[in-house]
Amino acid sequence: MNKALLYFIIFLLAACNTSQNKSTAVYFGGEIVNPTSEYVVLFKGDIALDTAYLDQNNRFTFQLDSVDEGLHHFYHFPEEQYVILERGDSIQLRLNTVDFDESLVFSGTNDQVNNFLLEMFLVNEQEEELIYTYYELEPESFRNKIDSLKNIKLEALNNLSLEAELSDAGMEIAKAGIMYTSYIFKEAYPFYHKRKKGEKSMHNLPPDFYDYRADIKYDENGLSYYRPYYNFMKYHLGNLSYMDCKNGCETENMMAKNQLHFNQHKLKLIDSLIKQNELRDNLFRNVAMDYLLKYDKEENIEIFIKEFHQLSGNNRHIHEINGLYDGVRNLQPQKELPEFLVYDSEGNKVSIKDIGKDRMVVFYFWSAPRKRHFTNMINRINLLKEKYPDYTFIGLNVRTDHARWNNMLEVSQLDKNEQFWTENFEEVAHTLIVYDPNRSIIANDGIIVDAFANVYTSF
Ligand SMILES: [Zn+2]
Repeated sequence: MNKALLYFIIFLLAACNTSQNKSTAVYFGGEIVNPTSEYVVLFKGDIALDTAYLDQNNRFTFQLDSVDEGLHHFYHFPEEQYVILERGDSIQLRLNTVDFDESLVFSGTNDQVNNFLLEMFLVNEQEEELIYTYYELEPESFRNKIDSLKNIKLEALNNLSLEAELSDAGMEIAKAGIMYTSYIFKEAYPFYHKRKKGEKSMHNLPPDFYDYRADIKYDENGLSYYRPYYNFMKYHLGNLSYMDCKNGCETENMMAKNQLHFNQHKLKLIDSLIKQNELRDNLFRNVAMDYLLKYDKEENIEIFIKEFHQLSGNNRHIHEINGLYDGVRNLQPQKELPEFLVYDSEGNKVSIKDIGKDRMVVFYFWSAPRKRHFTNMINRINLLKEKYPDYTFIGLNVRTDHARWNNMLEVSQLDKNEQFWTENFEEVAHTLIVYDPNRSIIANDGIIVDAFANVYTSF
């Protein structure tokens, strides 16, 4: 046969084939009641696929030609939640930000599995307290309790799959969520049990206690951003690192006293166990954040960061980690407050160094959309003001629209001399290391006393 003709026939066949398939285009939209920002962002892993602005009816729409099937998440400041998207899907949601997760409902294609995922999320939240009481139990009874909670959920999923048509991908994600959630508690058990019972050493476990570990997949591509899976990995690595140190290192209980040493175990374990890039980078990042935010001695964090660079120098989060490292180093006691610019209520730029001049200052942070945190914080600060009349308490506002901030100063009758607005949260986070919302910075005449104080526990 003539080659050109052959190609032409192949081309025709291919063209026919695609037109016969159902459309791959994906529609994802919905309505947000009481919006807390103007837009919604859709993510696959850490990649933002698209941003959709709300219209005058608070509705948003994503229209994608196709998707990489599976777990996605959408973000509407300051919350996020999962959505499974597959080719040809048309999904609607409705939510009210007053009760973000509780009010969220999906409809359209793939709605059953998405609503199921959400229901599991809420059930897991509710179960937390109950499971915490189980940690006192002996290993066998603990395992039975956890397994029976797991089996109830598996049965619910099974029933759903009988009445609804679940896709393989949806089924797998839902099942993984149930399984890994139950594994988390088993990884945590020896540590929580010891602490709750006040036992001197780790409780002996039956030899088959960790049997489920044979089913763990370390390279599950589509799950690296899925909370149950990712959280499991964190607990699992913590457990393995502890055991590794206990069995392999000479000094007993070294890790309890030495954060650097324990975290070095973690780095080595991640390096040897996790090959999937995204998960590996994220877990490495998690160790770095966790360790650096414990504010170890300067010479220790230097050793840590060197080792980190050796194992994960090309980490996708390396700028953030290096920034955090620099930030933590710059905020050591006895150093000067950084030259960081904020705005007063009249719109003038002021350096926090100048705010701290000639007085004892406590900087604390708040954000308007986090209403409960704001109320608690202001109450707490009022209490501290009475207790420590020598200190000036300075509120630094983050992640709030400027007009809204000004309005809140009026409505909540905050002292304008003690309130400042920050423009760029990334910058605040990097320079002042704001990861913990209850963080505060104590300084005396511009010199840092404790840059990692907590408004609840440090006073
Ligand atoms: Zn060790």
